[in-house]
Amino acid sequence: MKKILISLINLFYPNLCRLCKRVLIEGETAVCLDCLYHLPRTGYQNYADNPVVHLLIDRQALEAATALYYYEQGGQVQKLVHLIKYHGHKELGYQFGRQAAREWREADHPFQKADFIVPLPLHAKKQRRRGYNQSEWIARGIAEETKIPLLTTAIRRDVMTESQTRLKGYNRWLNVKDIFSVTEPERLAGKHILLVDDVITSGSTVGACMDALSAIPGIRISVFALTMAAQ
Ligand SMILES: [Zn+2]
Repeated sequence: MKKILISLINLFYPNLCRLCKRVLIEGETAVCLDCLYHLPRTGYQNYADNPVVHLLIDRQALEAATALYYYEQGGQVQKLVHLIKYHGHKELGYQFGRQAAREWREADHPFQKADFIVPLPLHAKKQRRRGYNQSEWIARGIAEETKIPLLTTAIRRDVMTESQTRLKGYNRWLNVKDIFSVTEPERLAGKHILLVDDVITSGSTVGACMDALSAIPGIRISVFALTMAAQ
């Protein structure tokens, strides 16, 4: 009965793909499989040396880094990130986290050997306003697939920053310098952690997070961003 009711509702108020407006079929949420399939992939996970690594190369603790999709202003990936971030579709973040992690398993990627998965934290106020941290949902998907423990309490974001998008170069770095603090350093000593973010642009935010962690003895840090934007 419930199924018939859902079909009837769909007939009058069809659930549409947020990217191409086609009617979604069973098993599709928010975005259709066809759109997902055609998103622009970076392929960076197959290369130890790639543009994400280059952004973070100055950090001694860096182990491996990659991003899954190219983010372009006005493009499908931007729409997708907005769905995850601003329109409550956190389950899409989870879905993408799982998909990325499945590919790492097949490729025996270094991320597989991480001890903890740590999403980049939002400022508490921002998280309350949004209701969730989108990067944490991506991280949850990764944790589900890899069985690596998720750690959400080890790092805190102390400062609300203005958007990085209007800032350039050195000012970007100044804007985020010292915005993170590590709350459980003893837990991370000697560990390999995988930092998870939704969009990486200049690398200054995730780099600031790495700087906060770098005082921990023996720490190694990998970075996964769902998308990478051109600077
Ligand atoms: Zn679609």
